[in-house]
Amino acid sequence: MLKSIAQKYHVPARTGRAFEAVKGDLIRITDLEGAQPVDFWAFARDGGLEFLSPEHTKPSIEKLFPRVGDAAYTNRRRAIVTVVEDNSPGQHDMEYAACDPARYRDLGVTGYHASCHENLHAALAKHGIEIPFTPQPWNLFTNFFINPDGTFTIKSPETKAGDNIVLRAEMDALVVVSACPQDQNLTCGGHPTDIQVEVGR
Ligand SMILES: [Zn+2]
Repeated sequence: MLKSIAQKYHVPARTGRAFEAVKGDLIRITDLEGAQPVDFWAFARDGGLEFLSPEHTKPSIEKLFPRVGDAAYTNRRRAIVTVVEDNSPGQHDMEYAACDPARYRDLGVTGYHASCHENLHAALAKHGIEIPFTPQPWNLFTNFFINPDGTFTIKSPETKAGDNIVLRAEMDALVVVSACPQDQNLTCGGHPTDIQVEVGR
């Protein structure tokens, strides 16, 4: 339970934000209006390029994504955040890459379109960090339904206004969230909206 809130961030639709979390902090991420996915990244603060890795998380927990009580792990197989509460339908995809300019081009967009890829790198740049690639994000509140035959169906998220997830930082981390701007399919229910982040104890 998040009892005292030290930092609170409103993240407008289509934008991203980075923030610091200290080991033991609770991070509550809220879908303010419903049906809004959040691309989530976390980078260890104790040196080296160590970050939340869905590829390493899935074998550690033997699930497609963490549920309450499960951690998400880094590329060095250390727990970086643990799910302590999930007040949402519990759809937190770890399969799809972040949206990026090429994805929007593939979907027929001509001209500029905001993307989670750009939001990540812009947010990191504000903290003086540059990385040459985009790690696989953890796609909170994202309903990429896996059919029994192995195909995906991009469905609208089932989150309602105010649904949230609470994560506990297991190490000092720089966290990045992106309110996904995907408006070319049902990823965001067709209409990207704002999210909120609170950090405390
Ligand atoms: Zn996106």
